[in-house]
This record gives sequence, structure tokens and C-alpha cells, in this order.
Amino acid sequence: MASDGEFEDDWLNSAEVLAVASAVETGTINSANPAITVEMDDKKRARSRSRSNSVEIIESTNPTKYLTPYDRFRKKSGFLSATDVSDIQWCAYKKLYKEIQGGGWIRASERVQSIVGDTGAQINVDTNKALAKEKIMDKGSAHHTKMEREMYDIADDREMEMEIYFDKRSDYYALWLHNCIVQLTTLAHQGRCREFGVRGLIDGQILQGDIDELCLDRKTGMVRVVDDKTRVDGKMPRYQNSNNKAQLMVYRKMLTHFPSFDWQAWLESCGINMNEHVSTPIVRQHMLQNGETDLRLCAILDRFKAATQIILENIDNVVELRYHCADGGTYIGKVEIEFDEREFKRYINEAFKFWHRGDYKGVDIEDGYFKCSKCEFEESCEWLTLQHTRAVEKNKKNKKV
Ligand code: SF4
Repeated sequence: MASDGEFEDDWLNSAEVLAVASAVETGTINSANPAITVEMDDKKRARSRSRSNSVEIIESTNPTKYLTPYDRFRKKSGFLSATDVSDIQWCAYKKLYKEIQGGGWIRASERVQSIVGDTGAQINVDTNKALAKEKIMDKGSAHHTKMEREMYDIADDREMEMEIYFDKRSDYYALWLHNCIVQLTTLAHQGRCREFGVRGLIDGQILQGDIDELCLDRKTGMVRVVDDKTRVDGKMPRYQNSNNKAQLMVYRKMLTHFPSFDWQAWLESCGINMNEHVSTPIVRQHMLQNGETDLRLCAILDRFKAATQIILENIDNVVELRYHCADGGTYIGKVEIEFDEREFKRYINEAFKFWHRGDYKGVDIEDGYFKCSKCEFEESCEWLTLQHTRAVEKNKKNKKV
């Protein structure tokens, strides 16, 4: 069972670690990874990093590492996504490496094959592993798109798709509010809606994301957050990863804030003039077709607030993971998870520690085989190098006693 707990040093005494240490020492495992260099000369450049009960001084030749990950990778956009929180639960090192590579949205074949980690080590990327993962993710995306098209009765015709460019930020927010109204209306009429865009403030940080599906239970009036996952083996997973839970809990938390959140104050703080009219032609046309005659942002916000207060009044405390086959999309089964405030806070704290303080760790030893063996950064991962070094030292110490 994967542990979601804080990192503890006790595992250094485990049989697995001691076996690895022994193998490294005797040369059975020939690690090509560069050793971590600890230099104390230039104290201004040295930095301490706390990982629970351990403190390491790690020297880097990479000047950008002195910025927090948020400053390096998210300052421009000004927000974190729900997956920016949940990915930390999988492995913060992996998240960092993917960001250094340019972000997960770059196709695997176009990503750089070598990056420099925080310790200055060169990290080689196994492109074959990245390509294999991308192939699975593409199947999942195709399944998501198919379900969305079926729900909104959209023709499966790529030529019908169009990109919308905004001259003003107010137009962007107007479209988002309008889309939410349309989706909430669909939820009320059809009992479900898909790809619902949520955003909000958690501990002063803007977070946003797209919820795969909202389902309305007409008997109780409760709305449930659902996330769809695809499985290559066509079977239910044997245990739940904390990253899936974190993603769903962030969505649910943001959704519960929707009816009461002061959207006007927030939009105004973003520099939006609420009296502006929507100016993007295609968006104006769509709103008019939907019977909206007042196209000022304040009027759209009023309609949005009314919809959220009626439809999102009761959010189910249970969130749901639904599994489908990667090939063909056949339904496999579902897992229901109770929202837990303490667990949610822990996910947020760990994610914000990474993004805002640059304080992070890699996978726990018991998850190493499951997570690292599939990871494209495994060959020269700094976290694994650090664990091997520690294990060797520990083994030497134990021999001396
Ligand atoms: S090899 Fe393991 S510890 Fe390193 S980045 Fe990948 S998942 Fe994380």
C-alpha cells in the first residue's frame, strides 16, 4: 500500500535499502548517476532544504534554482492548476523535471532529452518511456473528447472547431462565466455536464481546473464531482493513488465556494471593468442565441451567481473516480472517496511547499518500483542518487558498529 505520510528516515534501515546499498558498494549495481556535490565555500550560493527531519546543503550550478518553482514556471500565468497540486503527490521531483523540460503539454517527441536538475546534475530523459505514456494519455484524451461531444451533441468534425482570440481579458472571463451558465443549465436539465471549468482562491493562491463531470442526484439535489480515468489493463486499480484523491478534493473544494465567493471583488482585483460589454463577435453571437440580451460583464455575472446559488447549493461530500478501458472506453467500475478536510489541507500544504518554497522530496521507498520504473527520468534522477548515497553511507556505518 502506498504511503501518503510524511517522509521518514526509518526506511533507511529496511531490508530493500540495505540490499541496494550493498549492491552499489560491491559494484553489482553500477550507477552511472553523478554524485551529489556538497560545497560549503560560497555560503551565499549554498542553500539548505528541509525534508522533514533531514536537512541537506545542496550546491548548484543552476542559478534559476534560487527562484521558487512558482516564480520559475507559474508567475506569468498567475495561477496553479488542480494537477499542479495533485502531481506533487505522485513525485515532486518528476513535476520539477517536467517543468524544466518545458511543461507536460509539449509532445514527448519534441521535448528536450537532457535537462539540468537543481543539484546541477545532468538528467537524461528516456524518450521511449515518455512516448509510451503519451500513447496511453492520448487514448484517455480521445475518450474524454468523445464523451463531451456526445453530451453536448457536437459533431465529430475537427473542421467545425475554431480558436477564439480575445482582445480584452474581460471577454475571456465573460466567456468563462457564460460557459458555466450553459453547463449548469445542462446539469439541471440532463442531470450531468462535462468539462466544468472551476477556479477560486485557496490560501490566497488562485487555482483552476476542469472537472470531467458533474452529476446531479435528483432525489437529494446533491451534485457530485466525478473524474474519469482510463486503464490499459482493463481492470480496476488495486489501490488509490493520493494524486487522484488530491485532484478530486481540490475540485470539490473550489466548487463548494462557487455560490458564496465574491466574484465581483475578485474580477475587479484582476483589473476587470464590470460595465464593459462583451466585444468578441462569436461570443456575442452565442450569448444572443442563448437569449442573453444584456452583454455587460456585470449582467453575465448576475446570471452566473443565480445559477450557482440554485444548482450548486448542495455539493456531495463523496467524490468519484470512474474507470474505463483505454481501448474502446468500456466502463470498468468506480471508486467513491469521502472528502476529508485534513487530508485536503495536507495536499495543499505539500503542494504549496513545493511551489512557493522549493521544499520537496521524491517518492517514498515503498513506491519506488511502482513509480520510478515507469519514469522517464529514472536513469539519472537526483532523488534516487541521493537515496543510494545515503543508503551506502548507512551501510558503511552499520558495518563499523
Ligand atoms: S525516478 Fe522516481 S523519484 Fe525520480 S523523478 Fe521519477 S518518479 Fe520521481
